[in-house]
Formats: sequence, structure tokens, C-alpha cells
Amino acid sequence: MPNATSVMPGGVVLDWRHGSIGPLAPCVACGLPALCRSPVQGVPCHKGCAEAWIASHAADAAARARLIRIYTPGKGGA
Ligand SMILES: [Zn+2]
Repeated sequence: MPNATSVMPGGVVLDWRHGSIGPLAPCVACGLPALCRSPVQGVPCHKGCAEAWIASHAADAAARARLIRIYTPGKGGA
């Protein structure tokens, strides 16, 4: 029996409380208006879209953890 079960790579939760917002602009991921700015890249992006992007681009748990760290703003102040 072929293993056709696709694993849903959920579980990605970013902490963007330190992120910023701006005027509505098209999300870089889905193209819909977004207030959220990616705290790392400064581009309009829904938090959920960033989480979905990480979930779909991470090859394994270690890569996912690394991406989450990269896309979470530092908490120690700028
Ligand atoms: Zn989006």
C-alpha cells in the first residue's frame, strides 16, 4: 500500500509581537492587503502567510526551527 498520506507540517508559530505594522499593502505571499510587516525583511506579509511559508519550505524539524528563529525579531532590543 503506497504511503499517500501527506504530512501536514503545522506547528509553526511566529512571535511577531515585536513586529511593526504599516499602511495596507499587498502581502508578499498571498497578495491580499496586509497591515503586518515582516519584522525581519520589512515587507508586507501576514503572520499566517509567513508561518505557512516556513511550514512548506522547511525540509525537517531542524530547518523549521532555524527558519522560525530567523523570522522572529530579536527580543533584546535593537
Ligand atoms: Zn498573506
